[in-house]
Amino acid sequence: MRLVAVRVTDRQGLLPLPPSERPSVRLSDAVLDERMRGTRFVSLPPRSVLNSPAQTGMDFWSLNPYVGCEFGCTYCYARYAHRYVVERAHDAGKLDDAELRDFRGEHGWEAFEKRIFVKEGILAALDRDLRKFFRSNSPTVRPSDSVVIGTATDPYQPAERDFKLTRAVLERLARYEGLSVGVITKSPLVARDADVFRRLAERNDLEILISLITVDVDLIRAFEVRSPTPAVRLRAVAKLAAAGLNVGLIVAPVLPGVTDDRRHLEALFRAAREAGARFVYASPLRLYPAVRDRFLPVLEERFPALAKRYRTAFASQGAAPRAYARALQRRVQRLQLEHGFPVNRGMVDRYEKRLPPVQSDLFATAPSRRESSPAHSPPPDYSPRSTPRSDAVPPPP
Ligand code: SF4
Repeated sequence: MRLVAVRVTDRQGLLPLPPSERPSVRLSDAVLDERMRGTRFVSLPPRSVLNSPAQTGMDFWSLNPYVGCEFGCTYCYARYAHRYVVERAHDAGKLDDAELRDFRGEHGWEAFEKRIFVKEGILAALDRDLRKFFRSNSPTVRPSDSVVIGTATDPYQPAERDFKLTRAVLERLARYEGLSVGVITKSPLVARDADVFRRLAERNDLEILISLITVDVDLIRAFEVRSPTPAVRLRAVAKLAAAGLNVGLIVAPVLPGVTDDRRHLEALFRAAREAGARFVYASPLRLYPAVRDRFLPVLEERFPALAKRYRTAFASQGAAPRAYARALQRRVQRLQLEHGFPVNRGMVDRYEKRLPPVQSDLFATAPSRRESSPAHSPPPDYSPRSTPRSDAVPPPP
């Protein structure tokens, strides 16, 4: 991790920070920006940005331009990745004990929402990693893996409005052909990049997943502190669909006893259809230990009768009980059929064997055009094979 000098943007409404008196060597000095409500954006230039399946235990490559997320969903299991980055910085002497407390927050989860790491210099790291990606995707070794953007934190969270790292990554990927790229987000900001998506989709297999757990605004506000409203997310689906892009809805996590009833799911499927979504995926809640402190008190307050059942059901594992997951899948598949969507098991199908990517000239600006892209297969659920490491975690719902 290389640290950079203080750089504070001078924008209205933001608190300017005084420059450091000494050369910057500390993480807390690498502040890029700060909001009125206390969110700080901290530079974290990465050595590597593309996480391989071997590193993460997932079936695809993953990339997250930011660590931490202002949307602050109570069920977000990417919090531990933020904690990992902070603790590593502390161990390396880049944060003292007081700074460690600030970067972790009083309860251990606040900082995920208020200390956002920005992977400045992401393109240099991406270029290096793409060489590894293409080497490991040699057709004689294995079929092509997908690259999924936004598996750990939202790539279109508010930070992206300023730093535009996700856009830069997409523009770089659009130089290639034969890739399979997925993008997961809750933010309507994704529609800003429709032009890049169109270029990318000309020669690659692209899937844009807009994440939405319910159309009930009251429930959204209870479980997602600062996420965009359902209406604006659905408008983003409509805009991307109107641009001819392969966009769909991902309903994850489905909250047992809260949003898993037919009425809730049906409303989502109907809204997806009306917005022009091409597919809907759904998967149940995973209640990992890092999530419990944040999620269970909210559940307890809103649905006291359910809290005990959750504690029992998730006592020995993070995943939902198998029988529940199967029953939910059946309900979802019936709804997919009824609403004219491809029937799938979630995102899993998409990550089965695929055609190898074509590496023309890695850094050529105008790669040759291929006759056809790999066929787009419909999906199952993300299924990590082992405990993920670093910032590469199963996709955030
Ligand atoms: S679930 Fe996604 S949008 Fe919500 S806080 Fe986590 S990364 Fe952000």
